[in-house]
Amino acid sequence: MPLVDMKDMLHHGYDNGYAVGAFDLVSLDFLEGIISAAEHCRAPVILSLAESHFDYFDFELIMPAVEAAVHRATVPVAIHLDHGASLDTAVRAINLGCNGVMVDASHEPMPDNIRCTRDVVNMAHACGVPVEGELGYVPGVEGEDAERHPGEITYTTVAEARSYMEQTGVDFLAVSIGTVHGRMKGKPELDFQRLKQINEALGVPLVIHGGTGLSDDQFRRLIANGVAKINYYTALSDAAAKQINENTRAGASSGFTGLVKNIRTVVAAEVERCMRLWGAAGRADEVLSCCRPWMPVEHLIIYNVEGIDKTGAETMIAEGRQVLSTIPGVREVFTGEAVQDAAKYRYTWLVRFCHSAVIDSYREHPGHVTFADRLFRPVAGERISIDYQMIDPVACGSSNVVIQST
Ligand SMILES: [Zn+2]
Repeated sequence: MPLVDMKDMLHHGYDNGYAVGAFDLVSLDFLEGIISAAEHCRAPVILSLAESHFDYFDFELIMPAVEAAVHRATVPVAIHLDHGASLDTAVRAINLGCNGVMVDASHEPMPDNIRCTRDVVNMAHACGVPVEGELGYVPGVEGEDAERHPGEITYTTVAEARSYMEQTGVDFLAVSIGTVHGRMKGKPELDFQRLKQINEALGVPLVIHGGTGLSDDQFRRLIANGVAKINYYTALSDAAAKQINENTRAGASSGFTGLVKNIRTVVAAEVERCMRLWGAAGRADEVLSCCRPWMPVEHLIIYNVEGIDKTGAETMIAEGRQVLSTIPGVREVFTGEAVQDAAKYRYTWLVRFCHSAVIDSYREHPGHVTFADRLFRPVAGERISIDYQMIDPVACGSSNVVIQST
């Protein structure tokens, strides 16, 4: 599965003078269009899911489709939560499969932005997941969703950016230098001098929101001054809407499927144009060989119970499932009972972590500690506990098994 560490991916872009596109998807047509463009021009890509779009799709339903698309892809991909509004959403996104998250508290006063962002960073880093923060404010002017970003622009300052980075520990910074969410009105003026100074002061990959409507030259200058991730949605939405209008005018008579015909194609065309312009095209193989693959870990426990009956065991297991599945970085909690009566170990837990960093943060999480000390260990006499990392012959060529006692 060519899911790769997003921090490695963006540093590759930053170090090599190109930007990776983070394309917001709102339907399967967008997902397929974005991936097919990346495959066609061999570009690394970020599949982005914005919390402000959760009205348009069911996050839990679309994530398995996103993961299936990544599984099938041959280019490096990261899955990112865009504009996460709270710690809870960030946890949910990670547990559903995002390996990068953005926390957006940029509309809050600086101290509140820092506090909120730091909480997300602490949680996400304990799951191995990098975090994008935003400082300064990128408003919406017109176009779909512009009203979700109300107010006036606030430019990012160098001094605030430095202080914000130190206090929050974010991995990438979205800056406000003149772009807007949605469509531009007139020709956008970008403050390249400000961007240059921020880049020199921070030395981390910078992010631009509101990429729609910028000129080719503006994109080149953004990338030359440290921008390694460009968020892009409005132009894709406009291309899809235009296609639907054309289908209507052409007298689409076959109902829904006739109306949405060719959306994948027009989304793919615009995405590929961006990937070529931003220098990401042709970089897929380098990224796959330089960046760490994103590897889930399976935490396996097999055990017997003593001192409680079958009903007691079922109660303990049900409570454990509920508590453990909400711990950050836990993708799935599987519990089972042996099929064969003669099995040496009667019960199992199989807990899937998003990343090996979760081995430690899970063990220390108060929910796990309380459950294990109070309900599990007192009745689980004999047990074996092992963490397994998936063997991926394409990505790493070796297995990595960590054995530990609980
Ligand atoms: Zn944005």
